[in-house]
Amino acid sequence: MSEVYDLIILGAGPAGISAAIYAARAGLHTLWLDKQFSPGGQIISTYEVDNYPGMPGISGMDLGETMAAHAEKLGISTIRENVLSVEDTAGVKIVRTKKHEYRGRTLIIACGASHRKLGIPGEEELGGMGVSYCATCDGAFFKERTAAVVGGGNTAVEDAVFLARICRKVYVVHRRSELRADKVLQDRLREYDNVEMVWDSIPLEIRGSEQVTGLLVRNVKSGEERLLDTDGVFIAVGIVPNTEKFKNFVQIDENGYIIAGEEGLTNTPGVFAAGDIRTKSLRQVVTAVSDGANAVNSVQKYLLKKN
Ligand code: NAP
Repeated sequence: MSEVYDLIILGAGPAGISAAIYAARAGLHTLWLDKQFSPGGQIISTYEVDNYPGMPGISGMDLGETMAAHAEKLGISTIRENVLSVEDTAGVKIVRTKKHEYRGRTLIIACGASHRKLGIPGEEELGGMGVSYCATCDGAFFKERTAAVVGGGNTAVEDAVFLARICRKVYVVHRRSELRADKVLQDRLREYDNVEMVWDSIPLEIRGSEQVTGLLVRNVKSGEERLLDTDGVFIAVGIVPNTEKFKNFVQIDENGYIIAGEEGLTNTPGVFAAGDIRTKSLRQVVTAVSDGANAVNSVQKYLLKKN
């Protein structure tokens, strides 16, 4: 029979990395799995993180790498494997990947969230041909060209600022007349006179054959349609939690998030949730790292009770 770990951590975003650091320091026999090549989860596609204490203006990629290097220094690093399924058999948590079956006494799910899709014609077909969900990854292809950003949250506005620095023209298409993004980001966006706000508008279709050539939008107040000439469409309309594999394992709310409070307790004993994947009101790096620490604290309490 394969060895049984004290703890298995799924995910290497800020919550998973923080959990790994706390688990290493607590001396827990831990297995840490992540499917991505680079550590950091969603922050690796963030141009600049300016609200994580002590790291003003750090790039998301650098912050992810710095955090993962901290964990490695404590002797813990990820194994790159994609989890296919999880189950609980008589209190033992079984995690299956393509190649292995791992067993743990406890499990922390810190698998984060992914980009929400618009679900409009052209989005799927022109993916990688002008349609992108990551301005910092793909923005450079649009140097001196035109780009449209869809969304009004922090990600959309950060993307628009990033693109405004390199593009000739940037449209920001938002379904309301007020941005959701933090004021500091909104102020930064206003500094660019090559940005045109397309208020009260929803995207209908992304046009193009081999490459994006336009974005058709409709004004929700006037009903008027407008075709924006653009070479790229950057979609930043929020996130959806990566809970597909856990639906029959732990309780999920109506929006797909794992129901868990600050201590990370799910309805399955010995299974904890941390970071963007759990129900919470503020999804930020700083709250994700806090979740990782809290979840390991809960793991330790659980293991003590079991001994
Ligand atoms: P978000 O805050 O949920 O914003 C999504 C935006 O997309 C909203 O403006 C929303 O409009 C719009 N939207 C949603 N569905 C849409 C649809 N089907 N069609 C058109 N527009 C749609 O998502 P986010 O910006 O990706 O941020 C996710 C989380 O990460 C947030 O908690 C955010 O604060 C955090 N984050 C923080 C930072 C930072 O602090 N530096 C940076 C990036 C992200 P409405 O406003 O009308 O709902």
